[in-house]
Amino acid sequence: MNTPDINENASTPSNFNRRDFLAAFTGVAATLALGGFSRVAQAAAPHTLPPLPYADSALSPVISANTLGFHYGKHHKTYVDNLNKLVAGTEYADLSLEKVIAAVAGRPDKAGLFNNAAQTWNHTFYWRSLRPNGGGEPPAALKQKIEAAFGSVEACKKELAGAAMGQFGSGWAWLVLDGDKLKVVKTGNAELPLTAGMKPLLTIDVWEHAYYLDYQNRRGDYVNAVLDKLINWEFALQNLG
Ligand code: FE
Repeated sequence: MNTPDINENASTPSNFNRRDFLAAFTGVAATLALGGFSRVAQAAAPHTLPPLPYADSALSPVISANTLGFHYGKHHKTYVDNLNKLVAGTEYADLSLEKVIAAVAGRPDKAGLFNNAAQTWNHTFYWRSLRPNGGGEPPAALKQKIEAAFGSVEACKKELAGAAMGQFGSGWAWLVLDGDKLKVVKTGNAELPLTAGMKPLLTIDVWEHAYYLDYQNRRGDYVNAVLDKLINWEFALQNLG
């Protein structure tokens, strides 16, 4: 099982471009604010664990209440707790979550802080990327863009599943806006598309802690079930702006 990492020597993020990050983040922050997440998007330290947007059992049977309880109540909470410990008394103590991420991305000496800050952000975004009775057809405005980029919604889902399955070890599969183009990308460990200047639209957590209690090693079954039954296309459309 994967556990949150507070090691300052942990893996380092790549492809960092601070100007691109800030440009991408400006749009996402605005969208999260519109989506009712303004407190999270703009919160200054000390950082708080935002409430889940649904009950622990709301995503069952695709994701059990047991998995969600551990994932949110233990893993996500631990990232937030570690983040607060790492920023306490430092120059990062009064920065918003996104500013912490931007400040330490690409710095090997701050990898532990980056990992916990980014994982705090990633999980908040992941909960919003899912919803009870999700999946199905995307809203028309998003569907049109998906068809333009991938050919069909099915092809987009296939690419997302491929990214999720192709991520070696822990990480994330994302639908992003890169410039004016929709793309599917994957990131390892805590890394996120914002640091490469891309705007996240939705994500799927493929760390083992996201599915192992329910699916053991069958990552593909988890990913396909999420795409068919839980993915929140409306959230992706909001982020598209
Ligand atoms: Fe996770």
